[in-house]
Amino acid sequence: MKNAIEIRNLNKTYKASKRSAAKVALNDVSLDIPKGSIFALLGPNGAGKSTIINIMAGLVKKSSGSVIINGFDIDVNERNAKSSIGVVPQELNYDPYFTPLESLELQAGLYGVPKSERRSKEILEMVGLGDKTHAYVRSLSGGMKRRLLMAKAMVHNPQILVLDEPTAGVDIELRRQLWDNVKMLNSRGVTIVLTTHYLEEAEELCDRIAIINNGEIVACDDKDVLIGSIDSKEIIFRLDRDIEAVPATMSQFNCEVKSARDLSVRYSTSEQQVGAIIEAVQNAGYGIVDITTEQGDLEDVFLQITA
Ligand code: ADP
Ligand code: MG
Repeated sequence: MKNAIEIRNLNKTYKASKRSAAKVALNDVSLDIPKGSIFALLGPNGAGKSTIINIMAGLVKKSSGSVIINGFDIDVNERNAKSSIGVVPQELNYDPYFTPLESLELQAGLYGVPKSERRSKEILEMVGLGDKTHAYVRSLSGGMKRRLLMAKAMVHNPQILVLDEPTAGVDIELRRQLWDNVKMLNSRGVTIVLTTHYLEEAEELCDRIAIINNGEIVACDDKDVLIGSIDSKEIIFRLDRDIEAVPATMSQFNCEVKSARDLSVRYSTSEQQVGAIIEAVQNAGYGIVDITTEQGDLEDVFLQITA
């Protein structure tokens, strides 16, 4: 078995309530998440990311379709499916009156991990909380609390760790720390699934990415392939003198004056040739001192796909 998770034709409609109309949150979602990967579910708020995660975690009931976790169908073999996966939910909740060690022991108890097999201290070390074993949870910083939740999700030694928006509202430094933790766990063989609405996070961390929009998977591929598929490129000309406005003769190109002497041109690699663009700059009466180009990034992929 090479997939940690296989999702087929998954649908979810949240029923109407007094406050809201019925809502189709997932529309025929199918996904394979390879074993050993760091996989991102990337999409804007409301796209359906948490719904997928919560169905996998057994917190939300699907309307139809199938979910196989580590070879176990959640409808047929819920127990084994659940023991294969650790989930850090988007909504964070803490036990303020327990120390990190007590929190982990409690969680291990809930999962029925026998005392002899518990590794609470080792897990705390692993997420960098080794010196906080006996601290009050309420005295921990935001980043430490996040890592404690990761630790809690690991008590039953799951092969798959799922993180729902792990770095939403977390500052850059903490984000780096969490990323390091994720990479370290992955290097120990844990399959990582995370949701994010930060393109940068998916780009930095993941080897495979699915983009979800309005409850539908609109792209799913290796990160490099996704980024490579982007057709738009930016070329920046450093000119020999100041430029005030885009020359009228270049109006057919997507130009922008970036700074006093820098003119940027966005173009489609399949439709336009660099030679023609260079010629247009020279014909407008400018000398070219230097040229730099920028490849498209995930943001371009995202805009192209969801446009
Ligand atoms: P994401 O995690 O990508 O931001 P969600 O899966 O939380 O998206 O939500 C997908 C859609 O389903 C949204 O339109 C959201 O408002 C709706 N939704 C989520 N949870 C519920 C719920 N419990 N009841 C009704 N609608 C919900
Ligand atoms: Mg969410």
